[in-house]
Amino acid sequence: MDFTDFGDLAEDVLWGGLSKDAHRQFMSRCLVLAERGWGKVSPNPMVGAVLVRGGLVLDEGWHDVFGGAHAERMLFEGLGSGQNEDFSDCILYVSLEPCAHFGKTPPCANLILEKGVGAVVVGVLDPNPKVCGRGVEILRAAGVDVLVGVLEDECRGLNPMFWVNQLLGRTAVVAKWAETADGFMGRIAEESSRLLPTNPILSNEIELLQNERFLISGEESGRWVHWLRSGMDAILVGVNTWNLDQPKLNVRGLEVSKQPIRIVLDRRLRGEYSAEAVNRSAAPLWVIYDLNFLESDEAMGIRELQFKLLSEASGSGKLVGWGLELSELESSNGNSDSLNSVDRILQWLYEAHGLGVILVEGGASILQSFLDADCVDELHILRNSQMRLESGVRSPNLDRGKLSRDADFGSDEHWVWRRDFGGMGIETEEGLNSEFGILGKEEGDLAE
Ligand SMILES: [Zn+2]
Repeated sequence: MDFTDFGDLAEDVLWGGLSKDAHRQFMSRCLVLAERGWGKVSPNPMVGAVLVRGGLVLDEGWHDVFGGAHAERMLFEGLGSGQNEDFSDCILYVSLEPCAHFGKTPPCANLILEKGVGAVVVGVLDPNPKVCGRGVEILRAAGVDVLVGVLEDECRGLNPMFWVNQLLGRTAVVAKWAETADGFMGRIAEESSRLLPTNPILSNEIELLQNERFLISGEESGRWVHWLRSGMDAILVGVNTWNLDQPKLNVRGLEVSKQPIRIVLDRRLRGEYSAEAVNRSAAPLWVIYDLNFLESDEAMGIRELQFKLLSEASGSGKLVGWGLELSELESSNGNSDSLNSVDRILQWLYEAHGLGVILVEGGASILQSFLDADCVDELHILRNSQMRLESGVRSPNLDRGKLSRDADFGSDEHWVWRRDFGGMGIETEEGLNSEFGILGKEEGDLAE
């Protein structure tokens, strides 16, 4: 492939009549525009585009809604009657390589040729090895000057979920939890909830435990969490969290075009799915259980009760139970079972349902399962430096040396880790599977 690599240009060399700094500034504008697609375009990537003539911005575009126009098309459509003029003296900046395939819309590379744009600056190449470089190739072959790699890391970092989808063939995972300064996520041992819904004391138990619940993170963190949720296709919790916390798992305090789907991992169908529970949010509720368990003798009593609850609650059309064969890869110690199950669930969510990214919120053992399976792609820990518990539910085990500190939210420290996709895309599959070194693996029993 023949194009100019931004990294190969000397700092004082002009390309297309503009300095390297000017290119960075226009690309950084593309990134700002791209973010307008937050929560609206998944599993497509967020993309921004800017058209420049003589160092001035002529028009801007971004991918605004899934199935809608791509950034480049929106940009040209925004020019109205001016979209048929001569653009041979223009530079088009776009944060991701223009597409070369017929998807929901015709390829943008062809559109750029149709418009006769003289030069194109690309932030980062498409991660999909099958199409990587094709868009640039189409432009180059038609005589368009192409510069690649302006703010490459930032452009890639804008859509980590897209990289996961394309390269790993699964739904991407953002995980988040709040913890005290001494590393506890809550006061209540998850053991307390190992009760079947048939148990008459369950409802009292939940009430009692509810009274003991308290918030670890503060208001500022709370607002940020709702913003984070607004960019997710779904929010996933384990059955204990579902039963004990009775979470709404929705976005509050923000305008959203759609609420994220709620997913409960409930291998042995121990969850409370009354109509009231299902209606805590307007979003669909998916319950993922183990098909093998449902067919076992052990499941007989539970099966009848749960099917009754499921069918009553599903009257609203919101509740769907999905049976997956989660234990088909079970090993003798039962541990790799949960690891395999995590990957299996994420592949299924991507392939069967097209979910680009989900947020995993708890509890501790579910989070640990995802970490152990190396299926967390972005991690956020909100750490209340003012609070100590001394006992309770420990937050998951991980190599804290890899975390970096972001801006605090009030008295909450914000610790972050993101999977590094640098250099990934074509040659490196290695490093993907061992990026997050986990210290002292503990058994993470899925959905227990
Ligand atoms: Zn496109």
